[in-house]
Amino acid sequence: MAAERLPAQQTMHYLSTRGHSAKPQFSEILLGGLAPDGGLYLPSAYPKISAAELDAWRGLSYASLAFQVLRRFATDIPEAELDRLSSKTYTGDVYCNARPGEDAALITPLRTLEHAGAQSLLLQALSNGPTLAFKDMAMQLLGNLFEFALAREGAELNIFGATSGDTGSAAEYAMRGKRGIRVFMLSPYQKMSAFQTAQMFSLQDPNIFNIAVKGVFDDCQDMVKAVSNDLEFKVRQKIGTVNSINWARVVAQVTYYFKGYLAATTASDQLVSFTVPSGNFGNVCAGHIARMMGLPIHKLVVATNENDVLHEFFQTGVYRVRKSAETFHTSSPSMDISKASNFERFIYDLLEGDAERVRDLFLKVDRQGGFDLSGKPGSDGDEFSRVSRFGFVSGKSMHEDRIRTIREVDASHGLVVDPHTADGIKVAREHIESGIPMIVLETALPAKFNETIREALGRDAERPRGFENIEALPQRFDVMAPEVAAIKRYIAERTGL
Ligand SMILES: *Cc1c(COP(=O)(O)O)cnc(C)c1O
Repeated sequence: MAAERLPAQQTMHYLSTRGHSAKPQFSEILLGGLAPDGGLYLPSAYPKISAAELDAWRGLSYASLAFQVLRRFATDIPEAELDRLSSKTYTGDVYCNARPGEDAALITPLRTLEHAGAQSLLLQALSNGPTLAFKDMAMQLLGNLFEFALAREGAELNIFGATSGDTGSAAEYAMRGKRGIRVFMLSPYQKMSAFQTAQMFSLQDPNIFNIAVKGVFDDCQDMVKAVSNDLEFKVRQKIGTVNSINWARVVAQVTYYFKGYLAATTASDQLVSFTVPSGNFGNVCAGHIARMMGLPIHKLVVATNENDVLHEFFQTGVYRVRKSAETFHTSSPSMDISKASNFERFIYDLLEGDAERVRDLFLKVDRQGGFDLSGKPGSDGDEFSRVSRFGFVSGKSMHEDRIRTIREVDASHGLVVDPHTADGIKVAREHIESGIPMIVLETALPAKFNETIREALGRDAERPRGFENIEALPQRFDVMAPEVAAIKRYIAERTGL
């Protein structure tokens, strides 16, 4: 589709959920995280997609669809560039880890898991990217957007973060070999699975630095916090992050809700529901935005594991974050969160853009550990009664549920699903309705979480081609004590700044 023939877009500005007065455009928030007042960025209005437009999108490739979504949000980047970056990102070569029988060129292929009467359960594969988890869907685009934006400004960026698995590897695979970008990633020494360790440490790109910290994940996170609090160091070393609150990551994820909808329907007056295995509310937040844009989504089903902060809210209207000691280490570890960092975006919409109240509620989260919108005497508001208008419902899946679901899906369909997707399937079944396809988002391939697959099935998960001997590849990483001074020295020596 020739970009120059499209009608011009209205300039999109962004606001902070806590009301900061600046109204930046997309490029200005691309490389950043929180707004200056601690809020999260949202578009000043959601672009609306009509049923006619939606029907016109039916024939589009994933890359063209991503361009159509992106051009409505990134209005300060030339459309020809957005088109080029989408085409470069969403190819069958990048998302090549499709299962046998799946068409990699579809990027997020949809398969029917069950079809009984008017009830159907579908699985949308978001896990065919280089690190076998859904974070590649957005992170790969982010890498290309970052490279473009930095080149345009003649700038450079040093991404610094901590990981216990999925996010760090997705960031490294997205940024490897990119001009103007270095990645410094902390991980707890000898605490990740052999597969995850091999995935990260086998990268030989000179702009990727893996630092194994002699400690636990919390030690790594404390080091990141300490460095972030040293503003002088942060500015001089051009330190940035790529955490899940980054707005561009959320936008990139909006596309696969459109793609899944179009693949599951034949006309744009039909409804579908999505079930989303959730932790930080990043993935399902994109579903919420797609729905606000007019995509006919009936229900957005939030599936949590034992860490049920979100399920509790969608059941009761009470948002109560957990302390580290109350956060369980589970067999769906990428959903082990104590608070849902993107949740503030939904609360802003639930409160109809009352930024002052959003700010008060989230200051209360910091000071008192939560807020209550149940409407009961003494609560902070009664907006819980409005949640259903946004389509949200929820469910919870525990270790036994996920093991049982992995077994059952393997036995009935000959398909091995990963533990996070199993949580999704378990909860989806509780919310499936006649005549409305239920799409479960598959957030990882099982090879990544083989320990749990062995427990459930007594055999190893199949590995995509090219991953057979990943543990045997030479590894490149540095080991460090959990000392802030040491990591600062390490970074400065390598940036030369
Ligand atoms: C990150 C992740 C999730 C949770 O996604 P959120 O955006 O944090 O809600 C679920 N499954 C897998 C495999 C993940 O990597």
